[in-house]
Amino acid sequence: MQNKLIDFFDSHAIKGFLQHEEGLALYRYALKVRIVGACLEIGSYCGKSTVYLGLACKESENTLFAVDHHGGSEEHQIGEEYYDQDLFDQTTQRINSFPWFQRTIELADLQCSVIPIVTSSQTLALVWQQPLGLVFIDGGHSEQQAMHDVLAWAKHVANGGYLAIHDIYATPEEGGQAPRLAMEKLLQQQAADWQMVEQVGSLVFLKKLHSSELG
Ligand code: SAH
Ligand code: MG
Repeated sequence: MQNKLIDFFDSHAIKGFLQHEEGLALYRYALKVRIVGACLEIGSYCGKSTVYLGLACKESENTLFAVDHHGGSEEHQIGEEYYDQDLFDQTTQRINSFPWFQRTIELADLQCSVIPIVTSSQTLALVWQQPLGLVFIDGGHSEQQAMHDVLAWAKHVANGGYLAIHDIYATPEEGGQAPRLAMEKLLQQQAADWQMVEQVGSLVFLKKLHSSELG
């Protein structure tokens, strides 16, 4: 399967912010959780992480909910560090990554395994009901947004499931600190429920423990 993913990304230049090793880790964890629940990602952008997670879901007959308002984060806006002119919609005068996302999903043949949800993380978290096997957080990186996403979506992870958080850096020199602070807050508040199981690049996996695993 690693080869299939390498071939896919070799033949299609998919815009995005995820290392291949991190993507493979997402793929591995998504495969683990079929009997625990569906997968959900916050921050799909042009669908790079979606391909790794979605392929695992396709193989295991699971579903990925791919959540993004597709208006870009702060750093994607005009004049900011990660602004990409290709994503700028002349009619609305705004960033819109959704057409790029749709193209990626079609190229990877994941239409039947990925359900796009075009809304903000906040709006969806308020109405979400279904316990999830894996939640991948890679949305807005302001302190307020990162804190919201980690704390709100942690609630929706089923026991035995995983919360994966991207862009965790030990020092400000390496990268923004908001995701790490949010993760630490969760571990502080609910220390007994979560165990850090692995870090790959800047991607950290936390497991929500079953009551039988609680010490
Ligand atoms: N996972 C992607 C990169 C995500 S970039 C990859 O693999 O390449 C961050 C994305 O989060 C952007 O597309 C942005 O539109 C989205 N985002 C930022 N804040 C959000 C929010 N509050 N709700 C939903 N999506 C958000
Ligand atoms: Mg990221």
